[in-house]
Amino acid sequence: VAIETVAETGSTNADLMARLGGLRGPLLRIADNQTAGRGRAGRSWLSQPGAALMFSLAWPFKGPLHKMTGLPMAVGVALAETIVSLGVPVQIKWPNDLLRDGAKLAGILVETQNTGNAIWAVIGCGINLVMPDELEARIGRDVASAPWLAQMDRNQLMAALLSRLAAVLAEFDDTGFAPFAERWNALHAWHGKEVVLLDQGAVVRQGRAAGVDDIGRLLLDTSAGRVEILSGDVSLRLI
Ligand code: ATP
Repeated sequence: VAIETVAETGSTNADLMARLGGLRGPLLRIADNQTAGRGRAGRSWLSQPGAALMFSLAWPFKGPLHKMTGLPMAVGVALAETIVSLGVPVQIKWPNDLLRDGAKLAGILVETQNTGNAIWAVIGCGINLVMPDELEARIGRDVASAPWLAQMDRNQLMAALLSRLAAVLAEFDDTGFAPFAERWNALHAWHGKEVVLLDQGAVVRQGRAAGVDDIGRLLLDTSAGRVEILSGDVSLRLI
């Protein structure tokens, strides 16, 4: 994996998405700060210099395209397992946020593009290491940080994340999400909890979260029976 670092950029995901046509293999781009960090559906990821570990990894897949719907959940497994192994207990909120004590510690954004030669994914991740008061105020919701990780050597932390992530991505390309479903379910933050599903802010479903199936869909037990939810752009909230 080729690696590059930058002190500041708008968004590492946007940078790599713009360069996919010229890439020959995986590329990791790490930024100390992002001025226009992205979440899903045009939402933003906020940071300030040194507060978070932020990186994007461009990775080519052989496909097929429909398999890629499970990729954000497989990435969640890779990152959560690594962070847990480093001593910070985290769980996954479907589809792929990492929570610590119920608050968001890390965000993951996966974007894909078919360039003709390969299906590329740009996997972006921001992990809060410290949470200065002014940043917390800007975000305006309950957030988590991991001072224990902040004390680690930044390169060692990145190396631990990258090595597990690369292994998961290679396996995922061969097998799809199925072998990761059990690992995801073991890390599920809201297992058995009553939740609502929001689509553009509006409640579209309510039910008990029952984990993911073998393509990464959320299983929701509703009053009308079990339904499977594709991630698309829906968000979950506890009720
Ligand atoms: P939600 O978290 O609302 O369920 P989501 O999982 O789709 O939605 P993303 O779109 O991936 O979230 O991330 C963007 C959201 O993350 C923002 O709307 C904001 O609430 C939150 N956020 C932004 N910056 C940070 C940060 N540094 N730490 C934690 N959360 C943040």
